[in-house]
Formats: sequence, C-alpha cells, structure tokens
Amino acid sequence: MSNSIQAIRGMNDQLPGDLICWQQLEKIAAEVFRLFGYQEIRLPVVEKTELFARSIGQATDIVEKEMYSFQDRNGDQLSLRPEGTAGVVRAMLQHGLLHNAIQRVWYTGPMFRHERPQKGRYRQFHQIGVEAFGMTEAELDVEIISMTCQLWKQLGLTSTVLEINTLGASDSRLAYRSALVEYYQANRNSLDEDSLRRLEKNPLRILDSKNEAVIELNKNAPDILEYLDDESSQHFQHVKELLDNLGIPYVRNPKLVRGLDYYSRTVFEWTTDKLGAQSAICGGGRYDELVEKLGGKKRVPAAGFAIGMERLIELMKIEQLCQPEKRQDFYIVQTPGAARETGLSLAMQIRDAGYSVTANVGDTSFKSQLKKADRCNVRMALIIGENELETSSITVKQLDDGEQFSLSSENFVAEVNKYLTTKE
Ligand code: ATP
Ligand code: MG
Repeated sequence: MSNSIQAIRGMNDQLPGDLICWQQLEKIAAEVFRLFGYQEIRLPVVEKTELFARSIGQATDIVEKEMYSFQDRNGDQLSLRPEGTAGVVRAMLQHGLLHNAIQRVWYTGPMFRHERPQKGRYRQFHQIGVEAFGMTEAELDVEIISMTCQLWKQLGLTSTVLEINTLGASDSRLAYRSALVEYYQANRNSLDEDSLRRLEKNPLRILDSKNEAVIELNKNAPDILEYLDDESSQHFQHVKELLDNLGIPYVRNPKLVRGLDYYSRTVFEWTTDKLGAQSAICGGGRYDELVEKLGGKKRVPAAGFAIGMERLIELMKIEQLCQPEKRQDFYIVQTPGAARETGLSLAMQIRDAGYSVTANVGDTSFKSQLKKADRCNVRMALIIGENELETSSITVKQLDDGEQFSLSSENFVAEVNKYLTTKE
C-alpha cells in the first residue's frame, strides 16, 4: 500500500478541470450582487468559538456536534467558521459600520462542519452569501430572495423551488415553543431519542426531523401562524404579496425552521428535486435580534442568505449549464538553439496582444511537441524550425483540421490578429 498522504475525509481538492464551473458561478454571482448594490467583504476563517456559540446557538447541531474547535498555543478557544453570518456581524460591529447606516455586503469562502461526509455533504464546503443591515421592512426580505432568483436566471437553472415560512418575533416564538413542547410532551411515545433531546433544548428543530414516526406526528403539530404577533403576521403577509407582485412562485412550508437559532420572522430555503437527499441549495432569512445578541448597543434588523456552492455546481452540471473550458490560443513548437530565443520573444508579443500561449519547454521532437499541444486543448501550433528561422517566418498549424500557412515573424502579431478577426 502506498504511504503517500491523502486529503482529509470530506475535504475535497478542487482540480483545474473542475474549477471552470466554479469560476463561472463566482463571476455571475459577483455580477448579480453588484447589480443589487452589494459590496464584497472578506473575513478570517478562524474566529473565537464564543462567537458561534452566541450567534448560531449553544443547542444547535452545528455548535453541539459539528464545529472544528481547538485551543491555540495561547490557550484561546477558537473554531473554524461553520457559516459566514456570525463573522460578518462581528466585523460590522467591530468596525462601527452599523451606526445609522444601511449596509449590503456579500462574501464567499470555505466553511467547516464535522458532519458525516456523503454526496452533497462535506466537512469543508463553500458558501456564497449576502447580508444586509438596517432595514426592518418586508421589501428587504424580498430583495434578497429576488437576488437568488436573478442568480438562478443568469445561470439558467430551472429546477429550483422556493420554500418560505415565518418564525415570528421572539415573544411569539416563545409562545409557539411552549405550545410545541406541550404537544410533544403529550405524544412522547412517538419521539425518537434525537427528538427527545431536542425537546429539552430546541423543540422547534423536532419539526424538521427525518424520523418516520416523528414526521407523522408533525402533521398535526401546532402551526406558528396561530401564535404570531400582529406585526410579524403583517410582515409575513407583506412578504408574500411582494413575492406575488414580482411573480416569484413559492410554497409555504410550516416545518421550515432552519438549523441556526438566530433567525426571526422570514426564513426561506431553495430546494431542488435533482440532488437526492441533499436537496437544499440555499438557506436564509431575517435575523433582527442577532446584532444585539453579539454586543451591538441597539437593535439592527438584518437579513441574509447562504448558497451551498458544491450543491449548486452539481446542479449546474446536471442541468448542463457549465460552459466548456476556453481553448488556449497558441502553443509554440520549436527546434533547439536560436528558435528558442525567437520563441520566447514571440510568446511575449503574443501575450501583450491578449492571446494565450504556451511555449514548449525541453528538447523533444516536433511530433511529440505537437502531441503536447493537442493535449493542452490549443487552437493553433506556431512552428519555428530551421526553415522558418532562415525565411523569418512562422508556420501556423490549425490543430482542428491540420490546415497550415505561413506568416512573417516580423509582423506576426498584426498578421495573426487580422487572420483571426476575419475568421470569427
Ligand atoms: P442541510 O439541511 O442540508 O444540513 P443547513 O440548513 O445545515 O443544510 P445552512 O447552514 O443553511 O445549511 O447553509 C446554507 C447552505 O449551505 C445549505 O442550503 C447547503 O446548500 C449548504 N451546506 C450546508 N452544509 C453543508 C455541507 N456539510 N456540505 C455541503 N454543503 C452544505
Ligand atoms: Mg446542516
């Protein structure tokens, strides 16, 4: 058996061939976010563990079971970030960016959760998301939902479904929580071990249990709508009207509670039926109480979402939306000696003109150099041999059809430019 070191389970390498689709997604997403007036923010991957415990919630799966936490050499308790929102709020507070200001930001990067690795579920995965601060109105909830819609549209996705729900403000959520606890207490026999544990700490999470008996029990569980305060109820109504106005279809999922404690009022998730069990590609909602919880002097309403990039890329592949790799323009095939120098300076001129070019390195035969060019997915080989050196010319060989012609080496860039523009 080989003793070479392997990557950690659930943490994937992203190889050049795969990255084309990633870059396509990143480019389109950045452009959509720009169109909505969001600015990029980049934050550390490691934060104090307390930040996540206080924001995501001590009794959530993420904080209880999934975080990569460790003590550093100074004895500080740190964690690899399992999501992006907590860090964004921390940075906004730390740099005083929330004083009477509306802020719209987006981020992307790796997140870490110690889950059971399987298709669509990894231990290092990537999110791209947005957060907006300083607006209580339903328009903001709908703004961020419409950003996701716009992104799906730009990517060409057709299989996404929007699910929405409301969790009310904290008082109505407390009343709802009591009603749920009462209901589950009365039906304890149907609860599995996991749900019994959640009953003590986080009863809302029982609503998205995957256990069959619990799913059955949940069919008759109390609905948050009956416990909503008037303002939250109006807010939810307004969100739905605005979505209707924009022609954005949605389904209300009364069991949608999300796995992080900081949400209030609107929550949403985008799912697809094309990815099997790991069907959620984006989750988000409003979190009006989080800024205060993390030490903000006053309440700053906010909302955001995060997209799971691995799942979205997989969906793009399934829907055949990944663009093919762009072909490189030229590969320089050359004999040893003087041709090398000509090749090097020619390559520089070609790059100055904006064309991509690889110059062969090493003394191999023309035949093997041409083979390499083929393997590099190149349009044309530029051949510099003894003949070409004598006549101050370059032989251009189209690798698709083998067609070959000669251009002067002096005026090469201008001539090849002319040739390519007439061809396109
Ligand atoms: P799930 O219910 O699938 O565990 P979640 O509710 O934990 O998702 P969020 O914390 O809301 O997910 O993160 C937003 C998105 O990030 C998810 O919709 C999903 O696409 C993606 N995501 C979450 N966890 C993982 C993971 N371990 N591997 C890959 N993608 C993930
Ligand atoms: Mg999860």
